[in-house]
Amino acid sequence: MAQTSFTYDALPMRVLFGSGVVASLPGEVARLGARRALVLCSPEQRPTGETIADALGERSAGVLAEARMHVPIEIAQRARARAADLGADCCVAVGGGSAIGLGKAIALEHGLPVIAVPTTYAGSEMTTVWGLTEDGRKRTGKDPRVLPASVLYDPDLTLGLPIAMSVTSGFNAVAHAVEALYAPDRSPVVSLMAEEGVRSMAGALPAVFADGGDLGARTKALYASWLCGASLGATTMSLHHKLCHALGGTLDLPHAATHTVVLPHALAYNQPAAPEAAGALARALDTDDPARRLWELAGSLDAPRSLRGLGMSESDIEPIREQVVNAPYANPAPVTRDGVTRLLRAAWSGEPPPSRSA
Ligand code: NAD
Repeated sequence: MAQTSFTYDALPMRVLFGSGVVASLPGEVARLGARRALVLCSPEQRPTGETIADALGERSAGVLAEARMHVPIEIAQRARARAADLGADCCVAVGGGSAIGLGKAIALEHGLPVIAVPTTYAGSEMTTVWGLTEDGRKRTGKDPRVLPASVLYDPDLTLGLPIAMSVTSGFNAVAHAVEALYAPDRSPVVSLMAEEGVRSMAGALPAVFADGGDLGARTKALYASWLCGASLGATTMSLHHKLCHALGGTLDLPHAATHTVVLPHALAYNQPAAPEAAGALARALDTDDPARRLWELAGSLDAPRSLRGLGMSESDIEPIREQVVNAPYANPAPVTRDGVTRLLRAAWSGEPPPSRSA
């Protein structure tokens, strides 16, 4: 037992997992005592949303296919009005963090329960965190009302997630688990989930990369995303997430790809100051240098490895560093100007992270 003192606060979660489990959706709606479920998805996933609404039959109040990254306030307001007009008494959010985020925005205002059917590995369905973007600024907060009442993880629905997005979304999940392992409010049970989440995702991604239609690999990746999302929901995130929020919020860089590029560098920054986390990651990734191993894994899966490649210019390094240094999240290693400059420079140019022994 590495950690001898902790507080563990369990979030209520109901998870149905497995191929074909989406067929249980009408029963889950009925279990809530609801009669009119509004189905939420992104425009690209309208066909999936409609299939879900058909399966709900008379318990469907319709499909709103307007979910967008970072939940723009205008879309949230439209969705809230639509839910009220249709007399919806619950929402079914089908998709990635954007669709689930829209469900959370409705729950925040009207208290409607959300059933989540995740089709990426982002993990929002396991957290009480909501986000809303207004005038280019994203506000986030925590509220227990936005935590989905049940979550249906059906790997069949992930078979069509494009390979490149699957890989970056998988790294997004791993990033949650990595920071949960050195979080100030970590606890042994969450650390077990996080370690297993990293092990499963790192094992699944090469097989998903080889064949996106491999149901076994998709099942393993979705299982990992549950564990990583639950680790995120149970802990407070550190430098890596602060960097990604600053990069995404200020420069509008793509969410999952930004996590993929930054993670090896943020972990290299923190692993000397977080030996227990580094040990768990070494076991999970079968290496003595977890940061370098993640960087190599990203390369082997054709994932982006430089912020420059994502469209960031060199002159953005300084303002991003200032945002991070001036309002740092709790972090195992001290967050210094020089250190964050070096980290951002390496992530920007696509260099490997410094090795663990360096
Ligand atoms: P996303 O939900 O925006 O999805 C990306 C794209 O993939 C969309 O076009 C979507 O239609 C498509 N897609 C999703 N699943 C698919 C599938 N199975 N097949 C084909 N296409 C599919 O992206 P995301 O990375 O899942 O979520 C990112 C958003 O979630 C960000 O706004 C982020 O801030 C938020 N997020 C929030 C939390 C939280 O705890 N609140 C956690 C993680 C992420």
